[in-house]
Amino acid sequence: MMNRIPEAFKPKLPQKLITSLKTLDQFDEAAFCAVHESGEQVNSVRFNTAKIKMNEGRWPAVISEPPFSLDGRIPWTRDGYYISVRPSFTLDPLFHAGVYYVQEASGMFLEHALRNILDLSLPLKVLDLCAAPGGKSTLIQGMISPASMLVCNEVIKTRVPVLHQNLDKWGFANGFVSCNDPRDFKKLVGFFDLLLVDAPCSGSGLFRRDAVAIAEWSESAVNLCSRRQQRILADAWDCLKENGILIYATCSYSPEENENILDCLLNNYDCESRRILLDPLWNIIETCSANAKGYGYRFYPDKLNGEGFYLAVVQKKSGTIHHSSISEKLQAISRKEASYLRKFLPDETLQFARVNEQIHAMPANLIPDLLLLKNCLYLKKAGIMTGKMGSDEWVPDHELALSTGLNPRIQELRLNRPDVLKYLRREDFTADVQTKGWMPVSYQEQKLGWVKILSNRINNYFPKSWRILK
Ligand code: SAM
Repeated sequence: MMNRIPEAFKPKLPQKLITSLKTLDQFDEAAFCAVHESGEQVNSVRFNTAKIKMNEGRWPAVISEPPFSLDGRIPWTRDGYYISVRPSFTLDPLFHAGVYYVQEASGMFLEHALRNILDLSLPLKVLDLCAAPGGKSTLIQGMISPASMLVCNEVIKTRVPVLHQNLDKWGFANGFVSCNDPRDFKKLVGFFDLLLVDAPCSGSGLFRRDAVAIAEWSESAVNLCSRRQQRILADAWDCLKENGILIYATCSYSPEENENILDCLLNNYDCESRRILLDPLWNIIETCSANAKGYGYRFYPDKLNGEGFYLAVVQKKSGTIHHSSISEKLQAISRKEASYLRKFLPDETLQFARVNEQIHAMPANLIPDLLLLKNCLYLKKAGIMTGKMGSDEWVPDHELALSTGLNPRIQELRLNRPDVLKYLRREDFTADVQTKGWMPVSYQEQKLGWVKILSNRINNYFPKSWRILK
């Protein structure tokens, strides 16, 4: 699972950071510096079990050409694996099909925290406030029940497309993407059961893989991040309902961004710290904040196979609970449209809703929430976009091809690796196929997008902005 980076790029850790960490229980300066100087890199992925099921830690037989070998499960996860060599993910069709997400191992601890703290069988309303590029969003989606909703928000406009794309690839119908400032969520008082704030931070936890982060690190940047983190939490606090859970996380080592923020929460808001049960073999360090004695969980790369990470959980004690009062109705879709779309998405728990000219599919219980979110937020994605009526025919959307709910009986065009790479580059290719019309393209049984088969050619509908350029 480890590669080495060249000698010339070995990082020099900021002495001021080391000094601040020395005050922490169980910080081992020598081992911490050594692991950073070694240049070791840990690679890991998390699988989308709605698309693929691992076979006792091995690729299932349907994947005849695995893109990488698995090097053991990440102990605090069910579907996260270390991988021995980092391949070119861009050239792996399974990556484009949303079969897995490339994610840092420590951050996947969110999975264990969620299992420990919440009843995940309930229909929960979840907000991932700082969501791009979508690693934790896709993790949450794989864990909450289908009738739950997940709003994935990203304030920085240029980071929204990658978040959107990653959720499209993941293929779940209960996801929404918004592009709002945290303060906009004040309009949704008492709405969410779970709020994740994976906060923008100084990034010291990623020093092993990002030499630029070392060069940019300063005490003043840490203090700036700490103030921003407090502001984000203050802005978002009201949207969490009474008894709701806040999970706060950073990839920083600095106490100013971790335990001190937890102290701010526990001292200024009516909430209590929640403890997470740990397996001692994992070597995750439980910390206690200096003032309010709140529990937090620290990940050090010298103690486990993962990067620097911090996570803490608090539960809101008092607050409001949102009651919807939306009387507006969405424009209905016709019976003909509904029965046509049912052929693609046969799951009757999904309902169709028209927004402008597009028809979206989502769990039926989320339709009233769609109206509310549409009124309060800049909504960029809502459930699965199925498609729209073109000038003379129904045009399916790319999201529909990647949906986990797509009818497996729909005839697909199976491609081999050379042709599928042409498809992903948006190039022309040929295939011997008799049926005409729209068809999903697949590779090793994983759908990748649409083609339209004409009598004399195949039109490639892989989205222009997604095409691989290598
Ligand atoms: N949760 C993401 C994941 O797992 O893929 C990573 C989130 S990253 C640590 C923090 C995110 O916060 C970034 O996408 C960043 O653009 C966003 N951000 C930056 N400034 C922010 C602010 N003032 N309020 C909310 N989010 C902010």
